[in-house]
Amino acid sequence: MSGRLFIVSAPSGVGKTTIIQSALSRWPSLRFSVSCTTRKPRPGEVDGRDYRFLSRREFLEGVEKSRFLEWAEVHGELYGTDGEAVERWVESGSDVLFDIDVQGARQVLITHPTATTIFILPPSTETLEARLSKRGTESEEQLRKRLETATAEMAQAPWYDFLIVNDDLEEAIADFESILRATRCMRRHQSPHLQALLKQPSPVKPS
Ligand code: ADP
Ligand code: 5GP
Repeated sequence: MSGRLFIVSAPSGVGKTTIIQSALSRWPSLRFSVSCTTRKPRPGEVDGRDYRFLSRREFLEGVEKSRFLEWAEVHGELYGTDGEAVERWVESGSDVLFDIDVQGARQVLITHPTATTIFILPPSTETLEARLSKRGTESEEQLRKRLETATAEMAQAPWYDFLIVNDDLEEAIADFESILRATRCMRRHQSPHLQALLKQPSPVKPS
């Protein structure tokens, strides 16, 4: 049996990490694909848990060696998904969650076209700006860059399977978990189980 892939994208500051962390704490079977990045760690971020923090040289060596399932430049830094770990999880039947940008999502869909894609939207651009500023993790320059990219990122939302508006956080988390639950019940994901049932001899003995 192979696991399901969930790709989550959003403009920076919408609340994607907050929603993902909540889902991960409540769904122990869900694996988080820890990305590699050249960006510097924020206070509280742990290498290997939030990201694998690499130098630009290390990252580009990974590109040379085809280490990444996908990679992209986002807000001036490099980000990529380590292909080996993900494939191992998927082959063993685990569901894997990817927090990647729109460019990465398109690349993953080429190799995994049945992945479920989820885009998280802010209630308004003013709210997005307020959340990003309040988080206080970016310099003025980085903040400006992230807000400039937001519109172009949101323009890609229409080709995602699901759109969630993160206005009330609890509502958004409930929407997110409903998508995980419904996707698990989709026929294409349940068919191995159904086939196994149909192959079993009937428990009812013919009279
Ligand atoms: P992202 O991962 O999308 O960049 P974060 O999860 O870091 O965003 O959230 C950005 C900021 O917004 C954080 O300070 C977070 O606590 C806050 N936040 C997230 N969702 C909501 C919400 N629904 N209402 C108010 N604040 C929120
Ligand atoms: P942040 O620096 O705020 O953690 O992430 C910035 C952006 O990079 C977010 O849109 C996030 O989804 C994206 N990102 C994180 N990891 C990856 C990755 O492995 N690949 C791609 N393409 N984007 C990523």
